[in-house]
Amino acid sequence: MNKKDFFEKMEQDYELHKKKYACAHPKVELRKRTKKNKAISYVMQCLVCGKATSRDITKETAFLNNNNIEPEPFDENLKANWENSRNKEANLILGKDKQEREARRAKFWQWYDNYLNTQEWQKKRKLVLERANHTCEGCGINSAEKVHHLTYRHKGHEFLFELIAVCNECHDRIHEEHSKKEIEELEDLIEEEIHWLFKVMQFIKKLNCCCI
Ligand SMILES: [Zn+2]
Ligand SMILES: [Zn+2]
Ligand SMILES: [Zn+2]
Repeated sequence: MNKKDFFEKMEQDYELHKKKYACAHPKVELRKRTKKNKAISYVMQCLVCGKATSRDITKETAFLNNNNIEPEPFDENLKANWENSRNKEANLILGKDKQEREARRAKFWQWYDNYLNTQEWQKKRKLVLERANHTCEGCGINSAEKVHHLTYRHKGHEFLFELIAVCNECHDRIHEEHSKKEIEELEDLIEEEIHWLFKVMQFIKKLNCCCI
């Protein structure tokens, strides 16, 4: 998928999401709401999504409209649950699903550990070490002990040029510079960038600009 399609899909999904969660629900009822500061207000509440659909209504009007009976309490849970699933879905669309990403990451490392034990990998490893004449391709001095992935882009189907034979010392140095944590941080950055670009695309669209 190219960049434009990617953002277009994201935008479509986001628009659908906004529609799905917009409150156009017909069933509203008068409720008594106790705010965090204990102040009491009377508002109309949507019975589907829990949104307060009116401004505050005075106590007199509220009772007058409710046959002089005290209105039921405002359902804060209904509102919170609705907002939770709305935000969760939005995060998924915008690629901000942290938990999912963490699970994907864990799955990847598990897969990777298994992969290193396969014959396929052992064969590839041997080819790379032979290519390097068993000499480290980092320092050219020590004997090569490890085969390092320059990228995981073709993980499981690596090109040999994506793998290098290195000595333990050089391998440690590589991993110091590109520690797992750094990779994860980098992923977070990329994700933020995606989010930011998405906002820019929306803005440009609003301007009716034709350059994308
Ligand atoms: Zn609603
Ligand atoms: Zn080396
Ligand atoms: Zn490595």
